[in-house]
Amino acid sequence: MAQDDCDVVIVGAGPTGLALAVGLRLYGLRVRLLEKQDSGKREARAGIVWHRAMEVLADLGCAERFVEEGVSLDSTELFVQGRTVGVLDLTASGTRWPNPLSIEQDAVERLLAERLTEVGGAIEWSTEATAVRMAEDAAEVEVRRADGRPQTLRCAWVVGCEGSHSLVRKAAGLPFDGGPRRHLQVAQINAKVDWRLPYHGDRTYLLLDKDLSLGCAPRPGGGYRCFAFTREPDSTPLTPVTVEEMRQLLMRAAHDSDVWLTPTLPEWTNRARFQDRFARSLRSGRALLAGDSAHLWAPIGGRGLNTGLRGAHNLAWKLASVVRGWAPPELLDTYSTEQRRTALRVMRRTRRDVLESPGTWRVLLTMRLVGRHVLGTRWAADRIRGRLADLDLDHRGSPLSAHGGGDRMPDQQVWADGRAHSLHTLLSYRHWTLLSVGERPPPAPALASCSLPVTVRAVSPTHASRQLPDQSLVLVRPDLHIALQTRSPEEVTAYLGRWCTRAGAAPGQ
Ligand SMILES: Cc1cc2nc3c(=O)[nH]c(=O)nc-3n(C[C@H](O)[C@H](O)[C@H](O)COP(=O)(O)OP(=O)(O)OC[C@H]3O[C@@H](n4cnc5c(N)ncnc54)[C@H](O)[C@@H]3O)c2cc1C
Repeated sequence: MAQDDCDVVIVGAGPTGLALAVGLRLYGLRVRLLEKQDSGKREARAGIVWHRAMEVLADLGCAERFVEEGVSLDSTELFVQGRTVGVLDLTASGTRWPNPLSIEQDAVERLLAERLTEVGGAIEWSTEATAVRMAEDAAEVEVRRADGRPQTLRCAWVVGCEGSHSLVRKAAGLPFDGGPRRHLQVAQINAKVDWRLPYHGDRTYLLLDKDLSLGCAPRPGGGYRCFAFTREPDSTPLTPVTVEEMRQLLMRAAHDSDVWLTPTLPEWTNRARFQDRFARSLRSGRALLAGDSAHLWAPIGGRGLNTGLRGAHNLAWKLASVVRGWAPPELLDTYSTEQRRTALRVMRRTRRDVLESPGTWRVLLTMRLVGRHVLGTRWAADRIRGRLADLDLDHRGSPLSAHGGGDRMPDQQVWADGRAHSLHTLLSYRHWTLLSVGERPPPAPALASCSLPVTVRAVSPTHASRQLPDQSLVLVRPDLHIALQTRSPEEVTAYLGRWCTRAGAAPGQ
């Protein structure tokens, strides 16, 4: 095969492909991002970025801009059969991004595209990948441009971020297991709602009734994203959603006969049915999958975009480490294992989510009897919040997680260099961090011959911390997950020895 045109070809400039391109550019890789559409103007689709995805965007260097454009959400009020059950505070602890953000997917893509330009990348618009071929040490991607001109791109790796009909997945022969989600559809509209409930710019409403779950989330620019999950027969045609249909659903959910809707501009409605599907592996040789091309489910809980961003974040530093020669290609198999497990857990949660699934009599009765108590109990509210925020999804059991490893390192106050810091400001997506904890930590091992970039930091937690035990060494991955907790410098050396090629570039100290 001829010399590579670039390190990585990414097919598809949706949120996943864009986030991956930014992550790879932060490591200086030569990336080509192909998009068959001619511009970024698309439909709204996903509307919420949860806490963990905000951390991902912070690592990519653009979270502040998202906060400027989005609406920060503080709470959700739950109604069952028209009666309020309670308010759930959405503010999470242990993160620098305590609130989820209401922001439309077209804005997410625009902001990521701007960030990509800043880090020296670009989207190749009107460029459709039409075929992918794999060799042992490289890949070839056939593309067709707007003028019909075909071209062959050569790259070391190709990543399919092109959604559910992934060309890369098919070319790699990776089965997409699963099937349709029966008797569930969502109808959505962006609109101002005039009803008995007051408009709080930072509060969402969730209204549960028999065979209906309806949510209203404030949008940037005013009004709500209204979404209604219903149990429709699969044979019902997918006709366009009308204002009157949504008004009837709102009246039913709110038990309010006086509801009026005014669509906001640009007008947007959507009706969709869903599939639950997983690629059996996210890697085959030189091909990788991320986002909807790897996993799909109903947008209950608003997880698709968020899980795609997490996947891109998990993949970018690993792929960069392999391309740079810092780590062996087996590191990429851990992306497949970890992201598949994350996605399977997310899908299970969407199936068990009783608040956004159309209500059954049993759920409605239970919510009426104990809902208020559950929302008012601290541990239960913390648990629900942790799940919504996606902060509790760990990588325990991954080949990359050694003793005490796998959990995401929460943000917390620590002493370092004689003053208090937020721990996350001392960590970086561009390198691993070895935290030597306490007044008398074990000596950090010599890292001069380690090919992976590892920075050593001495810290002391201001309060007792399970993740930072006194007199220990804690190795944190670039994506904030704990790799290893130990008192033994030899264990750190052995761990890094397993994942370093040693022949690569010098570590960034
Ligand atoms: C109605 C609806 C509501 C949703 N609501 C939510 C929500 O509230 N929260 C949430 O998190 N998620 C939600 N989702 C899911 C979310 O929109 C997707 O998970 C997300 O868009 C996936 O991003 P992606 O980048 O993986 O794929 P996509 O967004 O599908 O992007 C793929 C890109 O690849 C391009 N492409 C395809 N084939 C080729 C090719 N051969 N060559 C070049 N380019 C190609 C496409 O044009 C597209 O731009 C919703 C989805 C729907 C349909």
